[in-house]
Amino acid sequence: MRHVKGIRKNRGDAKLDHKKLSSDPFSKSLGELNESNEITLSHQVVSLVPEFNSDDVHINSYTAQHVSGLLQKADLTLKSNEYGKSIKYLQRATQLGSALAAAKLGSIYSQGLNATIAQDFATSAAYYFLALKLIMMIPCTSYYSWDLSLVLDVVIGLTDLYRRELNHHNEADTDIIECGVKIMRSIDDRLRDPFFIRILDHNDVQLQRAIRIHVNFCFAITYMMAGEIYESRMSFREVEAIGECGHESADLLVIKAREHIHWLDSQLPNFTDCAQCKYAPTNLKDIKTLEMCPRCQEVAFCGKDCLSMHTSSCSGTFL
Ligand SMILES: [Zn+2]
Ligand SMILES: [Zn+2]
Repeated sequence: MRHVKGIRKNRGDAKLDHKKLSSDPFSKSLGELNESNEITLSHQVVSLVPEFNSDDVHINSYTAQHVSGLLQKADLTLKSNEYGKSIKYLQRATQLGSALAAAKLGSIYSQGLNATIAQDFATSAAYYFLALKLIMMIPCTSYYSWDLSLVLDVVIGLTDLYRRELNHHNEADTDIIECGVKIMRSIDDRLRDPFFIRILDHNDVQLQRAIRIHVNFCFAITYMMAGEIYESRMSFREVEAIGECGHESADLLVIKAREHIHWLDSQLPNFTDCAQCKYAPTNLKDIKTLEMCPRCQEVAFCGKDCLSMHTSSCSGTFL
């Protein structure tokens, strides 16, 4: 990774006057932007989509400097409670390709700012998705690399929305949820790519695992809410298989995943497909409609037709 070691340590040191945002990882990194230009720039390089189509070889450093300035202004205006201005600076930086700015906006809208900026989970999700899309546009080469701590911060925010804020039974929210699942799938695919893993050092590998735990947990709860019990179980199993990685939020999800697997196992019926036509529903509601043969109680069927074809030759003795 190109970013300066110690960034994560510094994050915890920066304090904000703003109480509501004190637990917000992005506002902490906003705070550190003023402390050292080196850290600012390293963060920029890894979270800013480079301009490939320009003949001007310096365009990327101009943009990085400009975005860095916008982020500092966003921080200062936030501290002086000029929330509208702060958001405008962040939006401008986002338009210029800053994944960090998009992530900060996602964080702001998920919590709201006093009475000025209301909590808005749809907008929050949209900015988090945008942050992930921007990150995916950054190539992984020896020069550029992904800021995995930023990706982790974003998926932590998204996990919170998926678990607590978005309504899995509301049509508008399910659109958002589906959209996010697609984007997080792309992230997960990239993070599992051997070419990607090859360039990671030990810390990055732990971050990569933490991110994968969060996105797979989001998949699992999305499936569970849709009654897709098998897919849900598979995603929870994936979380369990990745295992503890030393990142608190992810490790808690591993424990949660084990609890969910246990619960799902207790919900699974004995029969999951039709022994005659092999129809195998994935939805728990449909699985529960399978009819067991009352004679042998060893097989189940999708309906009367399949059941009667079996019972005519069944030698079971339960009846
Ligand atoms: Zn059948
Ligand atoms: Zn039978």
